[in-house]
Amino acid sequence: MKNIAVIGSGTMGNGIAHTFAQFGYQVNLVDISDDALSRALNTISKNLDRQVAKGSISEADKAATLSNITIYTDLKEGVAQADLIVEAATENLELKLKIFKDIAGFSKPEAILASNTSSISITKIASVTGRGDKVIGMHFMNPVPVMKLVEVIRGYATSDETTQVIMDLSRQLDKVPVEVNDYPGFVANRILMPMINEAIYTLYENVAGVEEIDTVMKLGMAHPMGPLQLADFIGLDVCLAILRVLQDGFGNPKYAPCPLLVNMVAAGNKGVKSGEGFYNYADGPKAAKVASKFSK
Ligand code: NAD
Repeated sequence: MKNIAVIGSGTMGNGIAHTFAQFGYQVNLVDISDDALSRALNTISKNLDRQVAKGSISEADKAATLSNITIYTDLKEGVAQADLIVEAATENLELKLKIFKDIAGFSKPEAILASNTSSISITKIASVTGRGDKVIGMHFMNPVPVMKLVEVIRGYATSDETTQVIMDLSRQLDKVPVEVNDYPGFVANRILMPMINEAIYTLYENVAGVEEIDTVMKLGMAHPMGPLQLADFIGLDVCLAILRVLQDGFGNPKYAPCPLLVNMVAAGNKGVKSGEGFYNYADGPKAAKVASKFSK
């Protein structure tokens, strides 16, 4: 493995590109938006500065990492030489099916095709590629350069060989890969999203306020962040989309999203990215205040 194409340069794509480039891989970062690509390079550069300031890498490592990344807006050019393609575009089934159909046509036949999807079926994505044995989930956590876990998802047709290559590669990136099977929400979101949904129900039923719920979970369960604030960081629209995948996939009403979450997303309150969710982020994510709607 030498050349890695990363498709989508948003929150996750820039972190994935950063990580591969830091470990010496040639990365082709592809997006449909020039703006997104220049924002991604900016973010990667700032995050590398933070690593230099902490002493975990040198200025020369920073320069080498940046020089390993090339940006593309043309998907065909971006994936042509890739040994591995990691798709991290917007969480939308139709979009991912289109991208995977295209990359299966544009890439080398032996290339492995991975998706960073949070919840969409790897088996369904693989079905449009004609090489299901080489399609796999490589679910990094946010922020990618910092978080150790990679959830490696085997689709119904994923081969042992493909799984082994991705497990080994994840370890080379200094990550800890965990192999799981392809069922709705995999492991991470199957457990996390019902907890977040229950926290929202607890607020909706007025059992306690935003700060009280988050404090109970932080101090009582040793979580670094409360579930309502974590939901704001993930994006309330993303949480809603994942709960719908769980609800549809299992046909079990226990995954039904809380009506308060549905209303907040409909109103455009998506958390950190829109400036307000359960908290208000007018003064930045580090100075979160309980949103006026939920304060006493
Ligand atoms: P994002 O909205 O920050 O970025 C998505 C990027 O994809 C945008 O830059 C957009 O321009 C680009 N894009 C859209 N269509 C494209 C196309 N056809 N070709 C190339 N690029 C295209 O989203 P994100 O939060 O980075 O999420 C990306 C993926 O990672 C999703 O599948 C999401 O479920 C998953 N994920 C997200 C998180 C998280 O915490 N945000 C965590 C784990 C996994």
